[in-house]
Amino acid sequence: MTTEDAAREAIAHHGRSLFERGLVPGSSGNLSVRLADGLLVTPTNSCLGRLDPARVSRLDPEGNHVAGDPPSKEAFLHLAVYREREKAGAIAHLHSTHAVALSCLDDTNPQDALPPLTPYSVMKLGRVPLVPYHRPGDRALAEAVGRLAREHHALLLANHGPVVAGGDLDAAVHGIEELEEAAKLTLLLRGAKVRLLTDEQVRALREAFPS
Ligand code: ZN
Repeated sequence: MTTEDAAREAIAHHGRSLFERGLVPGSSGNLSVRLADGLLVTPTNSCLGRLDPARVSRLDPEGNHVAGDPPSKEAFLHLAVYREREKAGAIAHLHSTHAVALSCLDDTNPQDALPPLTPYSVMKLGRVPLVPYHRPGDRALAEAVGRLAREHHALLLANHGPVVAGGDLDAAVHGIEELEEAAKLTLLLRGAKVRLLTDEQVRALREAFPS
């Protein structure tokens, strides 16, 4: 199997897994993998639970559609992150319930959207900034995402959802699952007297596990 075929299979496998757990309702969410000469991205209006690996969209490095079904309308988000993160090999973007809920709260800290509840989210995600709201398809969103992606591999788009880059698709998907869980915990504990990790504890984690 070629590297590209393996990447197509991996996209279909992760798509199905995310779908079965209710993380990609309807035709929401998109996954991409960077190839040596372009990228693969899930097609527009596709249900990630039923992807045909052979029909996953193929784009050239500039984002032009070259093969497969037409790409997700959010492919430009993926391109914006790849441009800024040389080592990113894959990206996941979801409209998963808890992360979207957190992205809509008026008191979510735009510099640091996830309070440090457990070491795992700090280790896997680093500091997660909130990208200001843009209407769907607005290319200015790519600029805002690109600017923040220079320093962060996990982002939360306001009133929209999370975007996570990883060295490979497993890492990107595991990262976005961690973000969804961290958002769920944040909502679950909202209003409760919470013992957050201290600044010192967070610093030590970030030094030990730079993102
Ligand atoms: Zn989206």
